[in-house]
Amino acid sequence: MGNDTATNPPRNQCRQCWYHAYAKDAHAHLGPRENCQPCVDHMLHGHPENLIVK
Ligand SMILES: [Zn+2]
Ligand SMILES: [Zn+2]
Repeated sequence: MGNDTATNPPRNQCRQCWYHAYAKDAHAHLGPRENCQPCVDHMLHGHPENLIVK
């Protein structure tokens, strides 16, 4: 697909949030006023340790 930024988060970034921020299809299924549940979850509860790039 050629979207290397989305799949190569730098150190200390959350893979999921990074992907959602840079992959243009990550939120493609959402309506304009719809929240992305995984993103909301990380916003409220923080990013799981296993998703942080070491
Ligand atoms: Zn996250
Ligand atoms: Zn998201």
